[in-house]
Amino acid sequence: MADNGESKPSAWNNPEFRPDLAFPQLTEDMVERLMAYGREETFPANVTLFKQGERQVDMFVVLDGEVEIFLPATNGEPKIIASHRRFEFSGELNLLTSQGSLVEARTVSESRLLRIPRNELQRLMRSEGEIANLITSATIWRRIGIIGEATGGVVLIGHAGDAEMTELQRFFVRNNYPHRIMEAPAEEATTTDDLLSDTESRLPAVALSDGRTLHRPTITQLADELGITELPDPEMIYDVTVVGAGPSGLAAAVYAASEGLCTLVVEGTAPGGQAGTSSKIENYLGFPTGISGQRLASRAQLQALKFGVRFAISREIVTAEQSDGIHKLTLAGGIPVCSRAVVVASGAQYRKLSVENYAQYENRGIYYAATAMESVLCRDNEVIVVGGGNSAGQAAVFLSGVAKHVHHIVRGKSLAATMSQYLISRIESSSHITLYTHSEIVKLEGESSLECVTWINRKTGESTMKPIRTVFVMIGAEPNTGWLYGTVRLDKKGFIVTGGSDGFENTPYATSVPGMYAVGDVRASSVKRVASAVGEGSVVISDVHRYLADHRNNFAAEPNSALAALRLASAAAATPQS
Ligand SMILES: Cc1cc2nc3c(=O)[nH]c(=O)nc-3n(C[C@H](O)[C@H](O)[C@H](O)COP(=O)(O)OP(=O)(O)OC[C@H]3O[C@@H](n4cnc5c(N)ncnc54)[C@H](O)[C@@H]3O)c2cc1C
Repeated sequence: MADNGESKPSAWNNPEFRPDLAFPQLTEDMVERLMAYGREETFPANVTLFKQGERQVDMFVVLDGEVEIFLPATNGEPKIIASHRRFEFSGELNLLTSQGSLVEARTVSESRLLRIPRNELQRLMRSEGEIANLITSATIWRRIGIIGEATGGVVLIGHAGDAEMTELQRFFVRNNYPHRIMEAPAEEATTTDDLLSDTESRLPAVALSDGRTLHRPTITQLADELGITELPDPEMIYDVTVVGAGPSGLAAAVYAASEGLCTLVVEGTAPGGQAGTSSKIENYLGFPTGISGQRLASRAQLQALKFGVRFAISREIVTAEQSDGIHKLTLAGGIPVCSRAVVVASGAQYRKLSVENYAQYENRGIYYAATAMESVLCRDNEVIVVGGGNSAGQAAVFLSGVAKHVHHIVRGKSLAATMSQYLISRIESSSHITLYTHSEIVKLEGESSLECVTWINRKTGESTMKPIRTVFVMIGAEPNTGWLYGTVRLDKKGFIVTGGSDGFENTPYATSVPGMYAVGDVRASSVKRVASAVGEGSVVISDVHRYLADHRNNFAAEPNSALAALRLASAAAATPQS
């Protein structure tokens, strides 16, 4: 690491940063084992090994010499953040993904390096447990270091509380992408500043490290631009495609890949699902002081990456069909994915309140997640939490530590039937939370964002109006199955029915479509909890294995003809009928 007299990277000032874990030295024995996966190459000084934005960069182990890692800066000199010497290695989180590289690497002096190409790296990660764990841990800590760098990543420019700004920020946070927030000055003040000279209508904007600025980008545009999306290979037939990277999908992916299945995960937004929006999950086994949903998801994603799972992030599956035993899923934008088996883990999304002008205030005062990110928006102000379930209870308790006061509104007569006792006790004992039973929000007011809320007690008729700018709505969820209508058997509420006479085989997670399984919250009659979602995702893989083994001969017979048939079918569907 750069400790040879240069100023230390800012991440080092963070007491939580662990340089010993971020920059471990391989032992002689480890390097000897690694020789089987790569080839030795000698480079003169000042050779660029990889540049920022490049995908699928190889890993380099320094045998002799020195390699410098630096962050290209948006304005000014590139910043050296690490220096690898004998038996140290290059690469951060993008070593496990196909994301574009955040950093650049070049030789400082003539250097003898062991280059481990990408395909060999995946083999290494599966076969060399001890080294794989060391690399995985180093890549996480290096990413943490880069996120902590004042100059790392992109700059998000806009106004705090603006709906689009919040959406972009959430996208960066949930994908662990290094970013900084810059509050845009008021309109009249922008004319002198090059970076911020765009009119308000072009905000929020994202300044990239190559000097370009994207104005009001969509999430998909950003994911493509920054290399967060890894598009699936259209020529490939995956053993299993997991739709959704919430707890159930991530668990399925880890078990599938660790047991040798060629696995793809397609996720519409960011890993974590509903759990990713929870500030603290306290009832998941093994975390006695609780864990944030975001952290749990990041760890699970890394575990999956370590085993070679491919992730297509920020792309939804929009249709599913099956021909000759092969499933064809189509991603938004028309990209096809072919797979022998499918695990549907697309979960659920928040229900909304039926109040006039509601949509106008979504992300402009109405939120569905109460994490550290949202808490910044309501620090020291009064807030409302709506809902009687555990997610609402958690939010109320969490927010009572940051907000001035929490008004907790529920329609029922108490919390007893819907919330865990530990949360009820905390709510009852908090002087920062007031519970309003039998109550409903009836009016939302405000110019560009929410400014005032009125609610009514349906039992007494008493109405309360308060100048409150932030409402957290947590009133349950609806299944994400719109993309499956007409394909798979659903119950009246749209959840997927599985098992028994409803399934193509008599196993608990089998749907009505052969080779398609459903797990977690999207499955009718599942227990809507993190632990059960993880359990179902883990267990379903044994059914998938059995299904693949039973149908091996069908797949092996003519996989290409099945693919060709699917392509012809899609081409015919895309051709306008005369
Ligand atoms: C705020 C909050 C707090 C919670 N706290 C707890 C708790 O403390 N303890 C507990 O046990 N449970 C808790 N829960 C419930 C728990 O989070 C869920 O039961 C769990 O997340 C369900 O996991 P899942 O993987 O089945 O689905 P989800 O978490 O809903 O994940 C589904 C994923 O699929 C993606 N997706 C949807 N459609 C598509 C598509 N067409 N293509 C691609 N991707 C798609 C979504 O973007 C999402 O990421 C909480 C829920 C919330 C909302």
